[in-house]
Parts: sequence; structure tokens; C-alpha cells
Amino acid sequence: MINILIFGPPGSGKGTQSEHIAKKYNLLHLSTGDMLRAEIGSGSELGEKVKHIMARGELVPDEVVIAMIAARIDAEKSRSGFLYDGFPRTVQQAAELEKMLEGKGLKVNMMLALDVSHDELVKRLLGRGAISGRSDDQDMSVIENRIEVYRSKTEPLADYFRKKGVYSPVDGMGTVEEIFIRICTAIDKINS
Ligand code: ADP
Repeated sequence: MINILIFGPPGSGKGTQSEHIAKKYNLLHLSTGDMLRAEIGSGSELGEKVKHIMARGELVPDEVVIAMIAARIDAEKSRSGFLYDGFPRTVQQAAELEKMLEGKGLKVNMMLALDVSHDELVKRLLGRGAISGRSDDQDMSVIENRIEVYRSKTEPLADYFRKKGVYSPVDGMGTVEEIFIRICTAIDKINS
């Protein structure tokens, strides 16, 4: 089973590309953002707890997302592997994921990092907000805070996985199709 992390700032196209990658390579797409929004939508106790944190563009507590991921990877048997989207976002989340995988004789095989300019990120997020109604994509100060939280808490993971030899940067500018071709080239390289 292969484990791929898709990595990049908010608006870098992780969710869009993940759908294509998961389909082509038969991977289970695990998006912590989608899981958390589903919790909010269902009105669960957990949803109530994280709603206000997400609205500000802050990170929800590590233990919450770690437990959600653990439950999904324990249950999965039929796929060729996993594609983690929006997780890990902190060094603690990365260390916990590695521990979980190690227990199954698995490891992180690849960190696919999408490279996108700041101006393009803001443009894409505002565009998505106008269509989806996601409130964290409609407020400039929340958008800037999410990018700032990414730079301070999440970006250090690039170095963490670079040191492990699994970091694979991909140019995230261009059309969805152009970027997908670059991604497939990178995956096929490690898969062959
Ligand atoms: P984006 O990457 O475009 O910001 P996501 O859907 O991945 O969108 O995340 C939306 C929000 O969900 C984040 O701003 C954060 O509050 C929360 N979130 C998602 N994944 C995590 C995670 N792994 N750790 C902590 N918070 C998370």
C-alpha cells in the first residue's frame, strides 16, 4: 500500500488534484477539511467544537484530526493506498501518522508539494468562496490568516519530509490538466 501526502498552501489545488489522483491510482482520498466540514454539517458535538476554530482560519487540535485519520486507515482494505489531503498540518500530526503507518509495516512514500504564488492563492480562494459559499474563503483576513498559519505551522513539514528523501515538488501554476500531468509523472517515477 502506497501512502502519498498532497501538500501546499490553502488554494494550491490539493482537493481538485486529489480527486483525479485517487481515481487514477485507486487510492482512498482522505481530506481532513472535508471530514471536518461533514462533522459541522451533521451538527455533531465535534462539529460544534471545531466550527469556530475553522471560521477563524486556525488549526483544529492535533488529536481531533489524528483520531479521524486513524479510524479511516484502520477500516480500509480494498484500495492500493491512501492519499492524505490537508493532513498532516503540524509536525505532531506527521509524527503520529508515521507511527500509525509503522504499526502496519507502511511508511510515507511521497510528499507531493504544489507550488503556487501568493497572488494566485488569494485569487483562487476568493473564486472558490464565491461559488461554494465557504465562509473561510470569503473573508480576506481569514484567507491571509490561513496562509500565515500554513507558513508558520505547516510549511516546516516540507523540510521534515525532504530529510526523509520523499519530498517531490510540482509546479502548481497552469491548468488543472497541465498540473495533473506533472503530478502523474512524479508519481510514476516513484511507483516504477
Ligand atoms: P484549505 O487547505 O483550502 O484551507 P481545508 O479544507 O484543507 O482547506 O481546511 C479547512 C480548515 O479545516 C483549516 O483552515 C483548518 O481549520 C481545518 N483543518 C483541516 N485539516 C486540518 C488538520 N490536519 N489539522 C488541523 N486543522 C485542520
